[in-house]
Amino acid sequence: MKLHILGTAAQLPTKSRSQNAYFLEWMEEGILFDPGEGAQRQFTLAGISPGRIRRIFISHFHGDHCLGLPGILQRLSLMEVPQTVKIYFPEEGADFFHALENASQYTRRIEFEVHPLKAGLVEETGTHRIECVSLDHSTPVLGYRLTLLPQERFDPDQLARYGLEGPAVGELEQKGSLDWKGEHLTREALSYRTKEKVFAYVLDTGACEAVPGLVRNADCVLMEATYLESEQVLADAFRHMTAEQAARYARDNGVQKLVLTHYSERYKDLNIYQKAVENIFKNTHIAQDFDEIEF
Ligand SMILES: [Zn+2]
Ligand SMILES: [Zn+2]
Repeated sequence: MKLHILGTAAQLPTKSRSQNAYFLEWMEEGILFDPGEGAQRQFTLAGISPGRIRRIFISHFHGDHCLGLPGILQRLSLMEVPQTVKIYFPEEGADFFHALENASQYTRRIEFEVHPLKAGLVEETGTHRIECVSLDHSTPVLGYRLTLLPQERFDPDQLARYGLEGPAVGELEQKGSLDWKGEHLTREALSYRTKEKVFAYVLDTGACEAVPGLVRNADCVLMEATYLESEQVLADAFRHMTAEQAARYARDNGVQKLVLTHYSERYKDLNIYQKAVENIFKNTHIAQDFDEIEF
């Protein structure tokens, strides 16, 4: 999986930071989170086609998380993408969604599937699970947890050992066992189980009880860090997180990799963020626009 950072600014964009927008390559899908203002152009600068978007998740309807939505929807329509684009957001924000969807004149040439959400299970299949939880901000916010479930896969070394390929593999897959060159082979014996893989998205919120469950044992967590601890009073007042709080959540909940974003424009040089977290949680990535993070 690969996470493309398309914007890292909070409310105020700066010369080097566009407003929020994150593109996740997840299985065969492209998922866009929180298209802030300028998201469409950030795709172009990153060399990613917006036509890859299959789903859009919106955490909440503050402008820095959604003002780029009209441009993205109209771009997808202009491209006449063949896929139905699924759009998810907290149900309390439905009026804002419809206003953004109809923000200006255009001819819609694509299908949307709109999902106003309550906290809970969003989708579960044999391959994946999507969940959302309510966070603590000045307006209803959802955090998202995307899990790829363990899968059974043939071990290529084992297949090679028995000279199995093509239709024989298909038969073993279907029937579960196969008599092959005098040996009785089973699917289980020639397979391995992939590990669960979890991505969690935590923007915007103050420290709250819901965060540990949302990020627990995740392979990668993208978390807001609007402030540093020196501005804890502001973080508490506006229900945002400090970098130090985010790093402690990662350290205390078995997170593999923490990626920070959504910086207040008061911090011009992000080295100060690195210093703030390096002694709390080492595997923290202080994201900048156009970073790519594989996990
Ligand atoms: Zn924000
Ligand atoms: Zn917000």
